[in-house]
Amino acid sequence: MQRALSRLSNETFDVLIIGGGATGCFTARDAAMRGLSVALVEAKDFACATSAHNSKLAHGGLRYLRNLEISLVRESLRERRNLMRIAAHMVRPLPFLLPLYHAGVAERAKLKAGLALYDLLSLDRNRLEDPAQHLPGHRWLSPNDAQTREPVLARGDLEGAFEYHDAQMYMPERIALENLIDADAHGAAIANYVAAEKLLLRDGKIEGCAVEDRITGARFDVRARTVLVAAGPWADLFLERATGQQAAHRLTRSKGIHLLVPQISRAALTIEAGNGHLFALPWRGHTLLATTDTPFTGDPGKVAVTEKDIADFLATFHAFLPQAGLTRDRIEFFYAGLRPLVSDGANRGDSYNVSRRSELIDHGKEGALDGVFSALGGKWTTSRALAEKITDTLVARLGKKAPRCATATTALPGGRFDRFEDMVKGYLKTWPGISALRNMAHMLGARLPLALKGARLTDLARLGSSGDTPAQVAFAMTEEMALTLEDVVMRRTAIGQFGPPEADVLERVAGQMAAQLGWSAEKKTRQIANLVPIYRTAP
Ligand SMILES: Cc1cc2nc3c(=O)[nH]c(=O)nc-3n(C[C@H](O)[C@H](O)[C@H](O)COP(=O)(O)OP(=O)(O)OC[C@H]3O[C@@H](n4cnc5c(N)ncnc54)[C@H](O)[C@@H]3O)c2cc1C
Repeated sequence: MQRALSRLSNETFDVLIIGGGATGCFTARDAAMRGLSVALVEAKDFACATSAHNSKLAHGGLRYLRNLEISLVRESLRERRNLMRIAAHMVRPLPFLLPLYHAGVAERAKLKAGLALYDLLSLDRNRLEDPAQHLPGHRWLSPNDAQTREPVLARGDLEGAFEYHDAQMYMPERIALENLIDADAHGAAIANYVAAEKLLLRDGKIEGCAVEDRITGARFDVRARTVLVAAGPWADLFLERATGQQAAHRLTRSKGIHLLVPQISRAALTIEAGNGHLFALPWRGHTLLATTDTPFTGDPGKVAVTEKDIADFLATFHAFLPQAGLTRDRIEFFYAGLRPLVSDGANRGDSYNVSRRSELIDHGKEGALDGVFSALGGKWTTSRALAEKITDTLVARLGKKAPRCATATTALPGGRFDRFEDMVKGYLKTWPGISALRNMAHMLGARLPLALKGARLTDLARLGSSGDTPAQVAFAMTEEMALTLEDVVMRRTAIGQFGPPEADVLERVAGQMAAQLGWSAEKKTRQIANLVPIYRTAP
């Protein structure tokens, strides 16, 4: 997949998608698979914003049952299964324990009823070929069983715990990317580091968008019959800037932080904390502490974690999990994301209770910007379904005849295998003794042989603790449009996702990129320096 700059400036597309997060990427794939001519521009790198900085769960959203959002939960549970089917190398079962302390009989009965409903709403969850992807229903564990299972829960006042299952993404950024790889294979013209600047309108009708190539500074127009704004937390701000008019639909932005610490439990822990909930999520040999939910009114590009965020969040966790010994010095990595929530006017100051529903707005129907659509809000888990709805709408708007959506059942490029463990066994036969293979199988799935074509033994040596390899770094540059060191260590591989990589690892990766992309020594140094702010808290 190469940056399609000349196609973007020369062709007229059925749809131009602005934003390469989960929403934009899933839509690009669906629209291209249905025969639309598709362009997608991403201002920075694919899945660099909300679609990276989340809890990595493909989940039904158990807690939405409290707000009686039954249809949202049902849709999320269906989409959880769809993700487990189309990206089985990436989306895997995750057991959860929900411990109860001083809950009382009524609360326990309420939770039991909620979990029974959760099971019922996902009755078709195991319609998946691979039994390893099946999710058991919920059950109750006695205090002893719960503590034996997870010693970190050891506390005299534990009443027991519910066990239930959801799914987790090994690396959400790469699921978004795989959508684009497939969209590209179906003819889409895609480029990262191209920012949409100004919508081109004639008599109120969309004709395209003026864009800027952020690598060269070149400006050009992308011509399109429809435009989808899939700019996540920037959506309303972009529309205001690009049209010079006040956006009719405003987003509520809610900041959520995550802290990565050494692994504290094997199962995920769901902690009911006052009116909210917290998660301790085992992820790739570590634990991800998730998350906060506070309204954010600043520049979305500047969202960051402060020391106060960390101190407050640790204190909350400590109150519920004192045995975990969660102190500042145990934090390996942290990040902040912004939920783009559809503002409903109510619940101001309480973003936790704003619905995670998505909304597709046809601005033409509202009397302006004919042919412009915005996708607002939603969840990672339901992005595919949102993309299906968007594509149906675009097909109708363009008056095209198109096949039905097939993205729920057609595996992503890396997901084209029968059973994950059989695939890993096959790989181990072909490349015996390579310790990084299992991680690479998760990262690349069925695309692994492509990435390892011509690789030498040294290309398969682990780079630091992530388990990623020089072969993946090379592949990221040739096939996955990685242009910067940050693209490679944060999004094509996970080298940078477990804390600052060791200096020699960075030196090796940057050196490899410099050699392949012809960087000067000065550019290489700058690329390494550009990573520093990722690991710093904001003042
Ligand atoms: C703290 C937190 C935890 C979450 N946890 C979960 C979870 O566990 N499970 C789940 O299902 N969901 C979760 N979510 C929600 C989920 O991450 C989001 O719904 C989803 O990632 C939104 O994707 P998006 O494509 O709409 O937005 P984004 O990923 O933000 O993508 C928008 C893209 O648009 C680009 N862009 C902006 N302006 C322009 C422009 N002018 N030109 C070109 N490109 C532009 C941006 O660079 C960005 O890449 C969580 C969210 C947060 C914040």
